[in-house]
Amino acid sequence: MSGRVALTFDDGPDPVWTPQVLDALADAGARGTFFVVARPAGRHPGLLRRMVEEGHEVAFHCDRHARHDRLTAAEIQADARDGLRTLRGLGHKAHDWRAPWGVVTGDTVEVAGELGLRLVGWTADSEDWRGGTVDEMLDRLAPGMEAGAVVLMHDAVGPGALRDGCGRTVDLVAPLVSMARSRDLTPVVLSGMVGRLPVGNPGDVASV
Ligand SMILES: [Zn+2]
Repeated sequence: MSGRVALTFDDGPDPVWTPQVLDALADAGARGTFFVVARPAGRHPGLLRRMVEEGHEVAFHCDRHARHDRLTAAEIQADARDGLRTLRGLGHKAHDWRAPWGVVTGDTVEVAGELGLRLVGWTADSEDWRGGTVDEMLDRLAPGMEAGAVVLMHDAVGPGALRDGCGRTVDLVAPLVSMARSRDLTPVVLSGMVGRLPVGNPGDVASV
């Protein structure tokens, strides 16, 4: 039996880059999960509709992109409630939640429990925000492309990014899917992942 991997994209939707990522996934015949920011989601509801129509999953990233270790429990809860309300208003019920930068505190865990959200971090980081080449990203991801991998990419230019576009993430999709398939791995949406997943940034000491 082949293994499963999850391709995930944070910080969108973006009117320029998200459609190109969706095109690349369609061309590759692969599915992914989008951890969306609620405010741009509210401005671009058609992009979320397209995600679902094409077999991808809409998951929750945040309402505003703030580190949870700099927010109070009440602020974390308010952000999640506001963002989820926006998504619900667009017809999407998110089940998975990735905190900004994968920074997960005890309060994050508590709020996730209250709201019935599964916290999902990643196991393999493309570090696409650095602006490196596709080959550099493939080399970075190659050791971690194994059954159960959750790959982090971005379909928008988020805060702190060292690039001004996501074109190389678009270009990464096809060779990354090929690499997965060459290892007998099938890209699936996150609800199709089984077993224990990381809750946050595996390299962040603030994670729990
Ligand atoms: Zn983010």
